Amino acid sequence: MRKKTVRILENVTVSDYAAEGRSLARVDGKVCFISGAVPGDVVDVRVVKSKKDWAEGYAVQFHAYSPQRTDPFCAHFGTCGGCKWQMLPYEAQLRYKQQQVEQHLQRIGHLTLPPAEPICGAAETVRYRNKLEFTFSDRAYLDAEAFARQQEAGTPPAPALGFHIPGLFDKVLDIAECHLQEEPSNRIRNTVRAYALAQGLPFYNLRTHEGWLRNLIIRNSTTGGLMVNLCLHHEDKAAREALLDHLLREVPAITTLLYTLNPKRNDSIFDLEPVTYYGEGYIREQLEDFTFKIGPKSFFQTNTRQAEQLYGIVRDFAGLQGTETVYDLYCGTGSIGIFLSRQAARITGVELIGEAVRDARENAAVNKVSNALFFEGDAAEICTPDFFAAQGLPDVVITDPPRAGMHEKLVRQLLEMQAPKVVYVSCNPATQARDLQLLSERYRVSRYRPVDMFPHTHHIENVALLEWNP
Ligand code: SAH
Repeated sequence: MRKKTVRILENVTVSDYAAEGRSLARVDGKVCFISGAVPGDVVDVRVVKSKKDWAEGYAVQFHAYSPQRTDPFCAHFGTCGGCKWQMLPYEAQLRYKQQQVEQHLQRIGHLTLPPAEPICGAAETVRYRNKLEFTFSDRAYLDAEAFARQQEAGTPPAPALGFHIPGLFDKVLDIAECHLQEEPSNRIRNTVRAYALAQGLPFYNLRTHEGWLRNLIIRNSTTGGLMVNLCLHHEDKAAREALLDHLLREVPAITTLLYTLNPKRNDSIFDLEPVTYYGEGYIREQLEDFTFKIGPKSFFQTNTRQAEQLYGIVRDFAGLQGTETVYDLYCGTGSIGIFLSRQAARITGVELIGEAVRDARENAAVNKVSNALFFEGDAAEICTPDFFAAQGLPDVVITDPPRAGMHEKLVRQLLEMQAPKVVYVSCNPATQARDLQLLSERYRVSRYRPVDMFPHTHHIENVALLEWNP
């Protein structure tokens, strides 16, 4: 076997942020992308990839910490993949996110841009998520030291209930306290774990696919809804009821409790049927005065307060007068269209997932929105000239695609449809920049504003207003 040589770059001064939460430095004329460091740090970098004009690595030794740094607030920082930017003050995070969006639009999109509007930061930078999914594993992730101790003592691996470690599919970091969701989120997770350990219930093994306890999904809403969905590998009625009853007794704030039997190899519940054990089986969320019903499988923006901000920006950019035909592409459960429905003549939503479309119709009904129609299917296939002709020529197209961005075919259709305005909501400014470049054939970006939906992570949302350039 060829021996791998370990290459270390010493005393590297990190100069700037790069995409995807990494930083960069220039070393001997080469750009080096570095994980685990922030601009201003002086570090030794272990190189994992080296190409002609760039390299990639991670910080292994710190000689000086950046004066920009602040103390991370979470005990799991550094190991957990969750909130990797805690060492940066929130103001600095926002600055980098804003800069990132501008750079992507300029460098990838080659766009002529208006001045950026200031990023919409979050008022709450902790406990902002309305959904967390924890995983059970019969082997907890241990750092090198703890692992060595365990080997020495010959103790068996401990079970864990927490988050996956990035890059290690079978190891789970046992989480004692997570700052991402309001209480009693921690109490729920810790209650389930303590009970399972005391009763000797088998935690799932992600390699051999044996065990019983698989996932714990907690969703809450700003109106007091609290949903717990426990995923189990197979039915064991007596053990299941005892565990669920225990949880209800210990955490009376739970408004609905479900369980899902998952005999599959993967964790996803989208093709499974959650069963309601207690309560209504769903919770309700409120954006302004609109109500949304959220089932165990419904998509809903994970930061409710920032979703309201985001949708407000979309509404502002759309500048509706009440007479417009509006399309809401990639509409999910219809929330953007419903949010805009009072200012538009009609809303046409398009969404791939059938259940989301059903939720969208129900949400429209619950909110007494009678001018919205929702269609199920691939936006690139559905949005043909015939479709637009039948549903009404668009005055405003809202598009909110997943990270991959829009299909080129859809971009072409939009160019042909010539809607006066397109509002492009993106969770990935890199693919947005690519799509905007294609659209720049006939559209100009007249406004754009980043939104921070996920404080302490590198994820960033951007809203752009495109206006037809005849
Ligand atoms: N606008 C919504 C959801 C945005 S998430 C909201 O704010 O809540 C992106 C949505 O695009 C998801 O609901 C996903 O199911 C849907 N989607 C993904 N690929 C699609 C496609 N090819 N055609 C239509 N919808 C798609």
